[in-house]
Amino acid sequence: MAQTHYNRSTTGGLLMSTWIDFKELRSKLDFEQVLRHYGFEVKRKGNQHHGFCPLPNHNGKKNSPSFSANLEKGIFQCFGCGAKGNVLDFAALMIKADPKDGAALRTAAAELQKRFCPELGGKPQAKEKTEKQPAKPETESLPVVVNAPLDFELKGLDAEHPYLFNRGFTKETIEHFGLGFCSRGYLKNRMAIPLHDNEGKLVGYAGRVVDDSTITEDNPRYRLPGERKHDGKIFEFRKTLFLYNGFRIKAPVDDLIVVEAFTGVWWLTQHGIQSVVATMGADCSEKQAELIVASVKSNGRVWIVPDGDKAGERHAQTLLALISPYRFMRWIKMADDKQPTDLSAAELKNGFI
Ligand SMILES: [Zn+2]
Repeated sequence: MAQTHYNRSTTGGLLMSTWIDFKELRSKLDFEQVLRHYGFEVKRKGNQHHGFCPLPNHNGKKNSPSFSANLEKGIFQCFGCGAKGNVLDFAALMIKADPKDGAALRTAAAELQKRFCPELGGKPQAKEKTEKQPAKPETESLPVVVNAPLDFELKGLDAEHPYLFNRGFTKETIEHFGLGFCSRGYLKNRMAIPLHDNEGKLVGYAGRVVDDSTITEDNPRYRLPGERKHDGKIFEFRKTLFLYNGFRIKAPVDDLIVVEAFTGVWWLTQHGIQSVVATMGADCSEKQAELIVASVKSNGRVWIVPDGDKAGERHAQTLLALISPYRFMRWIKMADDKQPTDLSAAELKNGFI
């Protein structure tokens, strides 16, 4: 049901509204035509188009053909910037809007419908009466800013809190990563973890519960920055666009260790391992995979050390699929239910590199 919306014009009310049936519109639109509409040269091979990414927010390499579209299915993806979706998502991204923003998606869809499928607009008004679905509140179509650098730092974090000491982390490690217990606000009763983007700019804080017995659905183990409206813009945080600790790798290295969690990064760093990054969860986005590849010399190695559980297995499979075409990889398998933080100093000394 979420596919169907009315787009009420502000002047004419319902009579002037443009009917958009997203599903129907998507099936009628010709992706090749849409690409040409935006001025792109389509190099068709069978159902596929490959080329440079046309998206205005593309932030990967500019001169590699990272963009591919299945013109038959009307879907696309870009290995460079990680964008993917259907033809309507594409249209939204072309106007620098977030496809998840219903109002922006409607604006983009309405434009394509008017141009390519005008016959789909203006369905009879009676249709609405049969629709039980209440009209969705119109959110303003605000510009979206992703991973904006913070203009403040959390003050008064307690770096002496026993949580990390009890887990074997040293004062040096805690200071190096800027960790500390937060006693108020959004991260109250959590260990605050500063998050830096690929350029090393502080873009937010993660917060880890220090008392696992308090973990519930509403109080998850980790809390990440949410979305907020400010100054007429929507600020969004996306962990999929960077690697934790990735900014410390200034030039491609011979050996890079990839773990799932923050704690793995702290632990391995504390034991003298130089280049460690985390994907911040069992998923790895294409953007993160691209960053991993770019952080390792072409004859270097990517060592993956996922947790010894089902999610870790999935993590490893994802990384292997995305990275092994480009870099030599080694998978260090942890014993069942073990994590990189369970590795002893001796194992870490002999296990890598
Ligand atoms: Zn792109």
